[in-house]
Amino acid sequence: MKFLHCFCVVDSSLRILWVGGDWDDFALRNGGQAILANDVLATRLTDYISDRATTEAVEQTVGAVIGSQGTLRMDYRCDGPEELRRFRLTIKPMKDRRAIMVHELRDAIRLEQPMGPWAYDPASPDQKCSVCGYVHAAGKSWKDPTDPGTSHPALVSYTVCPICVTKIETAVNDLVQGAGAGDVGQLSLKPGFNRD
Ligand SMILES: [Zn+2]
Repeated sequence: MKFLHCFCVVDSSLRILWVGGDWDDFALRNGGQAILANDVLATRLTDYISDRATTEAVEQTVGAVIGSQGTLRMDYRCDGPEELRRFRLTIKPMKDRRAIMVHELRDAIRLEQPMGPWAYDPASPDQKCSVCGYVHAAGKSWKDPTDPGTSHPALVSYTVCPICVTKIETAVNDLVQGAGAGDVGQLSLKPGFNRD
């Protein structure tokens, strides 16, 4: 897989002012035929987010960056059925209460045992964290679907898992309280991190 790098510039209401880099390539690779660059300009970023928890995370992080004029870095997973992919999102302030969100592919690991393909279903009780990619079958604990013996639910709704919610809140609070330009709130994913 070639190196992927894409960015978007948003204002404080999360309206998309510009997108660039490998945006279209990434959208097409992930089934996003309807979100090519020409279609998203002047729309709101949150129009493309299906769940409340992820919307709140984006609002919180971009709001903290614009408010504090600091930079926030956040690692996340965006796996495909055959590939574990780690990305880093860096949100930096720009002038006039705007922010640039840069997504970079950090690594992609081919899975020896592909996960079953999954689809989005807003009504599914099985959930997937849009930050760490862990899955949560109804009534069970959060698990990394690439772990041996763990299966990926066929239908998932999206949310942010409790651990990622806490990490985002901590990074946002650090940024807001740091209150200096150039401060960095950091959220990293640790492989094998104990989720329970
Ligand atoms: Zn998570």
